[in-house]
Amino acid sequence: MKKMKQDIYVIIRSLKEIRRISPGHLGLILLQAVFTALSPFVTLYLSTQILNGIVNQAEPRQLFFYAAATLTAGLAVHLLTSFFKHLLNQRQYRFWPACRMAISDKMMELDYGEVESPKTYQLRQRIEDYENTGGEGLGNLLWQFQALVSNAFTLGFSVSLAASLFMASYKGQVRGILAFAASPWASVLLLAAILLNGFVGMGLGGKMVKKSHILMEEVIAANRIYGYYLENHVLTYHTGKDIRIYGQKAVVNEEMEEHYSAGKHMVEGQIRNEAKYTGGVAAFTAMLSSFVYLFVGLRALAGMIGVGDVVLYIGSISRFTEGFSGLVMALTRLRTNNDAMRAYFEFMDLPVSGKGGNIQPEDGKTGSMEPVNGQSLQAYSAEGMQAKAQAGAPEQAQTCTGQKQQYEVEFCNVSFRYPGTETWALRHISLKFRAGERLAVVGQNGSGKTTFIKLLCRLYEPEEGRILLNGVDIRQYTEEEYRKVFSVVFQDFQLFSFSLAQNVAAGMTPDGDRVSKSLEQAGFGERLSGMPLGILTCLYKDFEESGVEISGGEAQKIALARALYKDAPIVVLDEPTAALDPAAEYEIYSRFNEIVGGKSAIYISHRLSSCRFCDDIAVFHGGELVQRGTHEELVVQEEGKYFELWRAQAQHYAG
Ligand code: ADP
Repeated sequence: MKKMKQDIYVIIRSLKEIRRISPGHLGLILLQAVFTALSPFVTLYLSTQILNGIVNQAEPRQLFFYAAATLTAGLAVHLLTSFFKHLLNQRQYRFWPACRMAISDKMMELDYGEVESPKTYQLRQRIEDYENTGGEGLGNLLWQFQALVSNAFTLGFSVSLAASLFMASYKGQVRGILAFAASPWASVLLLAAILLNGFVGMGLGGKMVKKSHILMEEVIAANRIYGYYLENHVLTYHTGKDIRIYGQKAVVNEEMEEHYSAGKHMVEGQIRNEAKYTGGVAAFTAMLSSFVYLFVGLRALAGMIGVGDVVLYIGSISRFTEGFSGLVMALTRLRTNNDAMRAYFEFMDLPVSGKGGNIQPEDGKTGSMEPVNGQSLQAYSAEGMQAKAQAGAPEQAQTCTGQKQQYEVEFCNVSFRYPGTETWALRHISLKFRAGERLAVVGQNGSGKTTFIKLLCRLYEPEEGRILLNGVDIRQYTEEEYRKVFSVVFQDFQLFSFSLAQNVAAGMTPDGDRVSKSLEQAGFGERLSGMPLGILTCLYKDFEESGVEISGGEAQKIALARALYKDAPIVVLDEPTAALDPAAEYEIYSRFNEIVGGKSAIYISHRLSSCRFCDDIAVFHGGELVQRGTHEELVVQEEGKYFELWRAQAQHYAG
């Protein structure tokens, strides 16, 4: 009972979700279901009248009237059914993209910690698995709901038409079998047979749906791996070179075959399962039909009902049995679909916390975005840029040079552990980063440099301590407002299969001149001038035949251009140049240093030589800030971590 209650709750919640994603959809389903269910009954009812009229030798005028009414009503219901079906089909086409959008919206709104968490990945994967393996999820819910309501209407119409058969009382004089057929006992017997047939169908159908759900669950993992191989090893050109050079076709095929066999096993199981069900149900229904024919026929012979009514009652009862088993199947399928819906809601319920400035100021300082030199954040917003451009102002905001727009950041005793881990990724970090400064953060791999940046950009929140921007706890700013302050090039930055312009401007309405300028500044100018479509060239060949493939170094330059285009007051480079040799990395860092001009910048590298130009160096080790100073100061402290790293790297690159 408790399970039933929970299932009903999930189904109701799922219907509300459909109403949210696709407003009006459920109403259309209801309308379409009414007319689809009504259509056969209209014809059945009116043809009964014609038949009864013929038998009772009605006036030709009356017969003609019934024939015309049958045609007109049949046509009207048919037209209305088609009309609603058409509207529903249109809605159905839009439903899939809308479901995808709901999931991708959620994914992009999630707190970054959730995005990085394996749990989120597994949840997403489970939603996909249910969808790809058994077609379960929101779409299936819609189908089953449609089946449910249409069968419910069928039941309603058939009961209202057939009820008079069971209620009728006999006043004539007949004997033997006819007398029994005319008696209320026969009605009770027929009703019992109909219900028995329904319950047998319900039992067999329920078993079949549950069994096929279990079969699907068993094959999910194999299907996932098969799909993975197909998507990532076969249907992509990325693996094409390796497959050819190393002759990997056989191994890929063998692996795929193995997992494909598991899928085959499921399909064969489903076919056997369905055969058992349909066989069982068909046998019972055939028995019931003979019984119904006998019963209705005898009542007609006894003169209880007209000849035309025979058609009406037999038709209604057979519709009733169809409707009953359809309704039960839809209900069972809705319940088995709930596992997929639970996975869906678990994902949709993941927390989205940080939209607003979500803590109250302790110190009376509020989170208005005032930089230390009194310039407002509007200078970095699109409106600000536009206002400047319209006023014919020099292109300061576009060139990233000149005027110093300054923000100060301070880490106050910050400690942090990744969710679900015991080890401190950062421990007791206290560090003030002054406006206009160049700060280098150095340290070995795993020392906490990237985590420091993630906290700085508010992708995670400190477990202990506070981060201040111009003296105000950063949690008092809205995320959107706060993130305007940073341009970051992460080590694992991503470009998209969009045009160069959309990549650089990170938006749909790029400012062409600024895009070109940023690309030039990032050192991509020469390559750009060789592209016939210029900044409209699409990156990668995923969607555009004319798309270009770019090298690792070129990708880095485009990522740098994106950071320049954003023109935020604090610029962070988090080892985006790891694939380059030390000399090339040094060149990019110095060049960027020049372009960044008067802004604040943080450079991260595990190569100390790359950040020599920075006047302030923070050395991280094991999640702690172990040293701070200029290169000259640190390099002479022979006991320090910096000296150790410097000496090791100098040896490595010597000669
Ligand atoms: P660095 O940038 O200096 O190479 P990181 O900041 O990336 O170092 O990592 C610091 C520590 O945090 C490492 O021990 C690393 O394994 C751990 N770490 C990094 N990212 C995650 C994560 N998403 N989940 C759990 N631990 C992580």
